[in-house]
Amino acid sequence: MVERDLRRRGIRDERVLEAMERVPRHRFVSPPLAAMAYADVPLPTDEGQTISQPYIVALMTQALALSGGEKVLELGTGSGYQTAVLAELGAEVWSIERSPGLHAAASTRLASLGYPRIHLVLGDGTLGLPAESPFDRILATGSLPRVPLGLTSQLRPAGIFVGPIGELFDQRLVRIEYDPPHTRGETLCVCRFVPLVGEAGWLAAVRRPEEDP
Ligand code: SAH
Repeated sequence: MVERDLRRRGIRDERVLEAMERVPRHRFVSPPLAAMAYADVPLPTDEGQTISQPYIVALMTQALALSGGEKVLELGTGSGYQTAVLAELGAEVWSIERSPGLHAAASTRLASLGYPRIHLVLGDGTLGLPAESPFDRILATGSLPRVPLGLTSQLRPAGIFVGPIGELFDQRLVRIEYDPPHTRGETLCVCRFVPLVGEAGWLAAVRRPEEDP
């Protein structure tokens, strides 16, 4: 997967490639899908959520420019796969999940894999985690209609936000280096993530139009 899908598609950060080589992705998908775990596709997880495709995980992680020791806030723990990749890079990770079931499953999974320096929190990630701020990096792994000011204010100067911003079914993966008054933003790619449902995110659970009766 690392050679075939990640390096060939332009992921250059050797530390990210090595970290993704070490994380056993098959442990993060349901057993019937284990054979697909190293294909470069998003896969369904419990409760209608998804584990992002490896290339997107690599792209987001590379954009965070981690050298080890950073304090990172992840919004949307999901399976815990991205959380594990961040921990492999030496970050201290706080990851927030809204669903009690997914939070509990990720806690068990990450504990059994023995990752240190991971703090899993049940709650609304769109509000961040003011009590633990400031963070060096914030990564949203579900979409947001806009970058909430309440989140960027939890970044340290020169901190980086990465996440999918836009419409419900069509977003841009953005990277923002928060350094007022010289804050800079760039678009990494177009994408489609599941929504972050919360006070500063999407307000209600939504259904895809094709699911309407
Ligand atoms: N990073 C995950 C993928 C996450 S998918 C992985 O590697 O597997 C997005 C996740 O965000 C889902 O698990 C969903 O339940 C969760 N979520 C949705 N709204 C949220 C909110 N307001 N706060 C925290 N988590 C949220």
